[in-house]
Amino acid sequence: MKITDIQFGMLRVPLKTAFKTALRTVDTVEDIVVIVRTDTGHVGYGEAPATAVITGDTHGSIIEAIARFIKPRLIGQEIANLNHITHLIQTALERNTSAKAAVEIAVYDLFGQLYGAPLYKILGGGDPVITTDITISVDYIDKMVADSINAVERGFESLKIKVGKDIGLDIERVKAIYSAVEGRALLRLDANQGWTAKQAVFAMHNLEDAGVVLELLEQPVKAQDIDGLKYVTDRVHTPVMADESVFGPTEVIDLIKMRAADIINIKLMKTGGISNAVRIADIASLYGVECMIGCMLETSISVAAAVHLAVAKSQSITKVDLDGPSLCQFNPVEGGVIFNESEISITDAPGLGIQTIHGLELISV
Ligand code: MG
Repeated sequence: MKITDIQFGMLRVPLKTAFKTALRTVDTVEDIVVIVRTDTGHVGYGEAPATAVITGDTHGSIIEAIARFIKPRLIGQEIANLNHITHLIQTALERNTSAKAAVEIAVYDLFGQLYGAPLYKILGGGDPVITTDITISVDYIDKMVADSINAVERGFESLKIKVGKDIGLDIERVKAIYSAVEGRALLRLDANQGWTAKQAVFAMHNLEDAGVVLELLEQPVKAQDIDGLKYVTDRVHTPVMADESVFGPTEVIDLIKMRAADIINIKLMKTGGISNAVRIADIASLYGVECMIGCMLETSISVAAAVHLAVAKSQSITKVDLDGPSLCQFNPVEGGVIFNESEISITDAPGLGIQTIHGLELISV
């Protein structure tokens, strides 16, 4: 099975409600789909969103990185040589992690197809059912409380609460949601870099003293402020998770050795795909550090890959934040991963099991 071509598509899916964080507001998922063709007729699919404020990747840069730098190296490569191919992808150019992730996902999809097994089995196997949380966007308190209650009624037992806009209001937001869903759902707090280190410690002490129990606090400070992240981690009881502060395996090693965070949020769009995500999960496992698997605003192509990884690496990936598909108005993909609100399961279809992508618009490059 040799790679013969790489093509691009655009996939647009409207969200049920606008996705609002301290960094941005988005109402439609618009992702680049990567289609890797082979001489046997097998097709692999990958996906990447433009997340300029986090990874720096845009639709244009994703297409350019793949078409000009990655694709020329991959044409003619045997899918069986997976490790060689991932090396070619990772060394094709610096950064551009979302572009690399999209291509890696498609190649791993084909690798699973080559051996007739779902990707999670190729990655080591596991129990193919996981449970995800759902994001509650930052908004007026009443709206956030209503959204939280609605999510609990839809069966979600973990809520990812977006804060980081205004410290005083953020504390009130969390207290109101906590009292509305106490005992029915775990709360994860994501400040998306919106606080200073001192504000984060102040907010967490206030909440902890008020008896608000949070499962974790995610990325309280700016991505580059590792000292600030450690300052918060050293001073609060609630476990602190690094998201935008860590992309690849070497950064994870540094972060763990500094004890700057308690938990690592792995996202394929930050790691550059599955090969480095596997490394991070294994590094974390060696150090006894837990990981969350997260996603950007992605549909069930790239999120499916994250699901397979989470199942295979459940030893260290103990928390799942793969709500991209459940935030969408509909699922454009008929495939091997079944997204049913909080429950996600994998069928026995080879690779990612993707059969059809509805509404995919081909892009000529
Ligand atoms: Mg986050």
